[in-house]
Amino acid sequence: MAQHQFQTEVSQLLHLIIHSLYSNREIFLRELVSNASDALDKLKYLTVADDAYKGISFEPRIDISFNKEAKTLSIGDNGIGMNESDLIESLGTIARSGTKAFLEKLTEDVKKDTNLIGQFGVGFYSAFMVAETIEVISRKAGEGEVWKWTSDGKAGYTIESAPPEALGTPQGTHVILHLNEDGTEYTNRWSIEDIIKRYSNHVAFPIYLTYDEKEYDDKGKEKASKTKTERINSGTALWRRAKSELQESDYTEFYKQLSHDTEEPLFYIHTKAEGTLEYTTLFYVPKKAPFDMYQVDYKPGVKLYVKRVFITDDDKELMPPWLRFVRGIIDSEDLPLNVSREILQQNKILLNIKNASVKKLLGEFKALADNHQEKWETFISQFNRPLKEGLYQDFANRDALFELVRFKSTTVAGWTSFADYASRMKSEQKYLYYITGGDEKTLKASPLLEAYTAKGIEVLIMDDEIDDIVIPTLGKYKEWELKAVNRSGADEELGEKQDKQAEKESKPVIEKLKKALGDRVKEVKLSRRLHDSPSCIVADEHDPSIQMAAMLKAMGQTEMPDIKPILEINGEHPIVASLKNTEDEQRIADIAGVLLDQALLVEGVKLKNPADFVKRLNRLLVPYPKEEL
Ligand code: ADP
Repeated sequence: MAQHQFQTEVSQLLHLIIHSLYSNREIFLRELVSNASDALDKLKYLTVADDAYKGISFEPRIDISFNKEAKTLSIGDNGIGMNESDLIESLGTIARSGTKAFLEKLTEDVKKDTNLIGQFGVGFYSAFMVAETIEVISRKAGEGEVWKWTSDGKAGYTIESAPPEALGTPQGTHVILHLNEDGTEYTNRWSIEDIIKRYSNHVAFPIYLTYDEKEYDDKGKEKASKTKTERINSGTALWRRAKSELQESDYTEFYKQLSHDTEEPLFYIHTKAEGTLEYTTLFYVPKKAPFDMYQVDYKPGVKLYVKRVFITDDDKELMPPWLRFVRGIIDSEDLPLNVSREILQQNKILLNIKNASVKKLLGEFKALADNHQEKWETFISQFNRPLKEGLYQDFANRDALFELVRFKSTTVAGWTSFADYASRMKSEQKYLYYITGGDEKTLKASPLLEAYTAKGIEVLIMDDEIDDIVIPTLGKYKEWELKAVNRSGADEELGEKQDKQAEKESKPVIEKLKKALGDRVKEVKLSRRLHDSPSCIVADEHDPSIQMAAMLKAMGQTEMPDIKPILEINGEHPIVASLKNTEDEQRIADIAGVLLDQALLVEGVKLKNPADFVKRLNRLLVPYPKEEL
C-alpha cells in the first residue's frame, strides 16, 4: 500500500469546500453523478472512435446503493475508469491551472472566498462534506489491474491494488462513501431520489437505485425483505436532441412538465449555439400570462443547466425582468457546475447567452407579428404590458420593442403600432399624438380629442395604467416626438382657431373664471382643441397627468404636491358665452365650478367634493333669471 500526501492546494480546497458549501451539501451527489456521466461519455466516445476499444461491450449506466447499518453510500459507473497514475493525477492534485491560481489568491476573508468558489468546479472533494472516509475502486478500460484509493480527506490518501471482484463491473469506477454523522440522512431511498430528480434527472445515462423493500405481516412485523433496482432519472434532456428528431407533441409534453401549465404553449424556440460559446436554449411562450407575473415574488420561468445538470430555477437575472413570462431552459457547456448566484450575476458567459436569447426572442415576436396574425393577437393580449415595461427598462432593445408594442387608436379598430400610425400620418404632421389616463371608453369620449378628430389627426388611445409611466419617458419614435393631448403645448398643430379678436373678447370671461376658481386651477385658457364641449382640463407640460397624480397618491406618495390642472374653455360654446353678460357672483361661481368639475369627470377623475358639484348644477338647472319663474 502506497501512502501519498495531497498537494497543498487540495488541502486548501477541501477546507474551503467544507466550510463554504456546507449548507448546500447535498450537491455532493450531483458532483459524483456528473463525474460518472463524464466517465461514461469518455468511454462511449472511445468505443466508437478508437479501434482498441471497439471490442468492449458496453451498456453505460450509473448505479447507486446504500447500506443504512454500515452507513455507506456507493456510486458506481462502468465508464472509462482510472489506473494508478490517473488516481494520483485526478484525486491527489488539482490539475486545472485556473483553480490553482484561485487558490493562490485565497485570503483570510472566507466570505469573499465562498463567493469565489462558485467559479470553480468543486467536484469530487465535496463528498468529504458527508463522508469520514472515501474509497474509490477503479479499473481503467482495457487494463488489467483494479486499484483502490482511500482517504479521510485530511492530509493524504493511500493507493493499493484490489481484487477484481471489488469492482463488480468489467471497467469503471465505484465510489464508496463511509458517511459521517451528517451523511446518514442520505441512506434512504427518498432523499436520494429527490436529489437525483432535482439535479440529475436529465443526465443522459440511466441512473439506477438499489434498495431493500421490506414486507410486513398482519401484525406489522417484518416478514421479508426484497432487493429492488429501479431507474430514477428520466434522462430525456429533450432540449439536447436535434430538432429534426422531435415532434410537436414532444415539445408540448415537455412544456407541460416544465411549466405545470395544462394548456399547450403558444409557441417555442429551440436554439443550439456553437462557436465561441456552446449552449442550447429552449424557450416557450405560454398562451396565458403566468398568474404571478405582476407579483414581486414571481417565480422565474427559465432554468439554468450546465451540461444537462440542473443548476437553478430561482434566478431572476437569467432573463430581463420584462421577459419573466418566458418558460424554458438554458443549458451551457461553458459554465462551471458550481457556479454561485453571486457569480452568475456578473458572469460574462451567461451575460452573452442572455443577450443573444433576448435578441432571439425579440426576433421571434416580430416574426409572429408579421406572419401569424392569430397567434400574435393572443400574444399581444397577454404580453403587451411586459413589452412596455421592456420599452421602459431595456434601453439596448428599445428599437425592437418600439415595433412590438400595440395601442388602440381613434381612427382604426383593434391594435395598431407606432409604425402603422406613422404610415397614416399627414405629411405635414410633426408630432405623434396620444392620450392617457382612463379606460378606452373614457378616453375615446374625451373632449380633448374633438379638434384632433375634426382635423382628421389620429390619436393613440393609451388605456393601460403603465402607459402613463412609460410613454412620457420615450421622447421620440423615429423622428417624431410623442405628444400627450392632455398636456399644454400639444395643441400647436391645431392651428390658430382663435384670433387676436377672440382672445380679446374672451378676456373678461377668463378673468371671471380665474377669480371664481382661485387656487383650484393653475390657469384658465382659451382652448384650440375643443369643438363641442365647453371645457376640458390639461396638465402643464411637465406635470404628471391628473390621473397619474391620483394614482401616485393612492400608492402612498403623500408627499406629492397638489397637481393643479389647467382649465381650457371653448370661447364659442353658449355656456361660456353666457358668462359675458352676467355679473351675478353666485352664478359665475356655479358655472365656473361646473365647467371644471365636468371636465374632471369626463377624464375619469373622482371629484373631491361631489356634493358641491351637485348643488351648483341644481342651482343652474333652475331657469334664469329667477324672477321669470
Ligand atoms: P472535475 O470533474 O471538475 O474535473 P473532480 O474533482 O470531480 O473534478 O474530478 C477530478 C477528476 O477525476 C476528473 O476530471 C476525472 O478525470 C477523474 N474522475 C472523477 N470521478 C471519476 C469517475 N467516476 N470515473 C473516471 N474518472 C473520474
